[in-house]
Amino acid sequence: MTTEREIIGQRDDPDLPRYAGIATFALLPRLEEVDHADIAVVGVPFDSGTSFRPGARFGPAHIREHSRQLHPYHQFHEAYPFREQQVADAGDIGVGPYGIERAVETIHANADRLVRGGSRILALGGDHTVALPLLRAAAAAHGPLAVLHFDAHLDTWDVLHGASIWHGSPFRRAAEEGLLDLEHCQHVGIRGGVYGPGELDDDRRAGFAMIRSEEFQHRSTDGIAEQIRGRLGSGPVYVSIDIDVLDPSQAPGTGTPEVAGITTRELFAVLRGLRGLPIVGADVVEVAPAYDHAGITGLAAAHTAWELLTLMGLGGATAER
Ligand code: MN
Ligand code: MN
Repeated sequence: MTTEREIIGQRDDPDLPRYAGIATFALLPRLEEVDHADIAVVGVPFDSGTSFRPGARFGPAHIREHSRQLHPYHQFHEAYPFREQQVADAGDIGVGPYGIERAVETIHANADRLVRGGSRILALGGDHTVALPLLRAAAAAHGPLAVLHFDAHLDTWDVLHGASIWHGSPFRRAAEEGLLDLEHCQHVGIRGGVYGPGELDDDRRAGFAMIRSEEFQHRSTDGIAEQIRGRLGSGPVYVSIDIDVLDPSQAPGTGTPEVAGITTRELFAVLRGLRGLPIVGADVVEVAPAYDHAGITGLAAAHTAWELLTLMGLGGATAER
């Protein structure tokens, strides 16, 4: 948001190249270095909810490291996302690996503090479990949310291995808790394994309409963005992006890769078609650097986060409680 207060942008030191120094997200100031943050970028290094390949706990550091090349000016939107709003790196939430319920409470408490402080959150995961406490904090401030969910997977499953909260259940739990506006949620990029059609029925009950990955083969991204706008309506929007929505060729570094996904270019084209949406919170999750190659996934995630930050600056949403 535009503010009367001074805005501190990206590090600008002629003696320190972009590849040098300690990486905050996009070389932005730390939260401690600013008097307010319109948007707080916060890492959530938690992956104990993952069902297959672990490692997303290392996602936040990997995304930050690959965010050094994010520049001040967004050519498509003709906007300066770090000039028109104060964006700051709030560091990582201190969350341990043992005990999912306890971790979710810790994430919720930290997210709630940032939201109450007047910041909108852009979270860097972490596995998709972290979306549940982030949705709790955002819904407490804004009421039921229209969730725009990019993922290969439904993430509206129930109990797995005795756990009701894991990375395949955040949106089911959120729906049960009344955090979602059930008429206005949208999946994009769905494919991958299900055990049977009953899971798709459950998913509809959790409030989601679906745009499948294969639709990108024959539909324009403009048309898809238009459909999403219609579904989301005019209320507060939360955007959750599981990096595995991308094809493994575009994002190999993730825990549950699924072939036949969308491209980074398609993802950005859809996001760029959503200018003006009132986005009250967002996350980019499931980056697992141990399976990445040459930073492909880290770059995709960092630039996805930048697209979201830019959209948030153009959307006019406020974070007042
Ligand atoms: Mn997911
Ligand atoms: Mn997924």
